[in-house]
Amino acid sequence: MSVNEPGATAPGGPRKARIDRVLFSQEAIAGKVRELAERIRQDYAAVPGANGTGGHGAPLTVVGILKGAFVFTADLVRALGALDVPLQVDFMAVSSYGTATQTSGIIRILKDLDRPIRGQHVLLIEDIVDTGLTLRYLREHLMAQDPASLRACVLLDKPERRLVDVPVEYVGFQIPDEFVVGYGIDYAEQFRYLPYIACVRLEPQ
Ligand code: 5GP
Repeated sequence: MSVNEPGATAPGGPRKARIDRVLFSQEAIAGKVRELAERIRQDYAAVPGANGTGGHGAPLTVVGILKGAFVFTADLVRALGALDVPLQVDFMAVSSYGTATQTSGIIRILKDLDRPIRGQHVLLIEDIVDTGLTLRYLREHLMAQDPASLRACVLLDKPERRLVDVPVEYVGFQIPDEFVVGYGIDYAEQFRYLPYIACVRLEPQ
């Protein structure tokens, strides 16, 4: 998702930021995406209906969380497609009031799912799990719609920052408590286009 709704930044706007160092290269991310896709394929092969073999139940529905997970979702669904995992794609857009680098835990749904997920196997795709408040909110929101199953796949996990215990079935990389951008992830709407993930340094105001 994205922290920082319009008007929720510090007075005077967000601080200037510049790339400090690359944490994960484009190649490292691509390798991780293939690895995650293979794990997901194996796990869902055992789930009736989710493996496209004509079992009972519905196919897999991947729910990407905008905007931060848009690149990760695009790459992961293509990696799953390359492994012949049939799936549908939907998106939610959520935002959280807070500063430019910190979520408040008060989540607002800007766009909900297009199609009902009742009875479907849902794989939630998020960019980062930090305090865990967003993922907990999203899991509760989706579980209330009665899916056949719900799992979460998160590219980056900051375990040191966790405030609530929330299950994350698939994690790409664990990272320390540093603010990152790139590969779809922004700072004040900048840097989403970078093909790698990097730490940013905020200039003093
Ligand atoms: P949580 O609710 O787990 O504290 O926050 C998760 C959300 O906070 C992520 O989806 C992401 O939007 C934002 N977030 C957490 N850490 C970072 C970070 O290092 N960089 C950016 N750009 N967003 C972050």
